[in-house]
Amino acid sequence: MLGARYKGKKTIVLEEIPKPVPKEREVLVKVKYAGICGSDLEAYKTGLYPAHVVLGHEIMGYVEEMGPAVKKWKKGDRVTIFPTLHCGGKCWYCQQGLTNLCVYEDAIGIGANGGFAEYVLVSDHHLVALPDSIPDKHGTVFDQIATSLLALREASFIPGSSVGILGMGTIGQFSLQVLKLAGARTIVVVEKNPFRLEIAKKFEPDLAMEKLIFPKIKRANKKGVAGLDYIFECSGVPVLVNAAIDVVRKGGTIVQIGLWDKPLEINLLKYVMNQIRIQGVYGYVREDFEFAVELVAKKLIDPDPIVTKIVPLQDIVEEGFEAAIDPETKDIKILVEP
Ligand SMILES: [Zn+2]
Ligand SMILES: [Zn+2]
Repeated sequence: MLGARYKGKKTIVLEEIPKPVPKEREVLVKVKYAGICGSDLEAYKTGLYPAHVVLGHEIMGYVEEMGPAVKKWKKGDRVTIFPTLHCGGKCWYCQQGLTNLCVYEDAIGIGANGGFAEYVLVSDHHLVALPDSIPDKHGTVFDQIATSLLALREASFIPGSSVGILGMGTIGQFSLQVLKLAGARTIVVVEKNPFRLEIAKKFEPDLAMEKLIFPKIKRANKKGVAGLDYIFECSGVPVLVNAAIDVVRKGGTIVQIGLWDKPLEINLLKYVMNQIRIQGVYGYVREDFEFAVELVAKKLIDPDPIVTKIVPLQDIVEEGFEAAIDPETKDIKILVEP
C-alpha cells in the first residue's frame, strides 16, 4: 500500500509499505480522509517527531478487516479513531483518568503509523463509530474540538466571561464555536491571515481583528474594561504569546494551546503584578473525543467552513504541508485522501 513516511524536518516521502494484517484485537481501517494537524506542521517545520513513522492522527475511514478476537466491529463500519496511546492504568495519571498526561503517552500518527496511508492498523478500542448525520469529510475533526473542550475545562471557564482567541487556525476556529456554546459573553478574535479571519467572522465573534488594537477591545468588551478574562492562545507565535500578557485582565487566565519549540522571553514582572494565571493544555481524554463527535452529530458545531481542501495522498507535500505553512494560505484544515 502507498503511505507517506515522515523522515524528519521538511521531509515526507511517499513509499510502498507492506499492508498490515490484523491480529487478535486489531482492526485494519481503510482510510478515507486524514487531516493535517497543526502539530504535524510543527513536526514538519522543526523535526519534532521520531522519524520513519507514517503521520496522520485525525482519521476517518471504513473497517476493512478484523483480527479473530474482534467482536464489536464488522467490515464496512464507518469509524473515526481516538488516536491517543496510553498505558491504560499502569501509571498514576491513567489511574486518575488523566490519560493525556500518561507517562507512556504517544499517539497513532506520531509514534505509531497513522492515516497518511491507504490503511491504518489500530487496536479495536481506538475505534469510535461515526453517526450517520456526520458526512465523511467531517469525520476527522474531533481531535481539535476535543482539544478545545479540554482547554475550557482546564481553564475552569466560567459562562459570562470575556475571551480573546489569538490565531484562527483549526483549534482557534473550533474554540470560537465551543466558547459560544459554553456561554462566553464577549469574544474577540485575532488573526493576521485575512482568509482565516473571514471564516471566523461566519461564527459571529463580537470583534475580529487582523492585529491587536486595545481601544477596540475595550469598546467590544461588554464588561467595559480592556483586559479580557481569558485568552486562548492558539497561534504559538511568540509575539502573540507576549501580547496575551498585555490583553488579559488582571487576575485573568491565559490558556496556552499553540506550540513553539524554543525558549521565549516573557515579562515576568507583568505576570506577577497582574496576577496572571497561565494554563498549558495538552491533548484530550476519550470522553472529550466522544463528546466532540456528539456535538458535530447534533449540528452544535459546524466543521464545514473549516475543512477547506481535500488533496490526494500523492500531493501531500506540495498541496498539503507546504500549502498549509504558507503565511498567505487560503486553507485552514486540509484533508489527505489516500
Ligand atoms: Zn490533531
Ligand atoms: Zn498511563
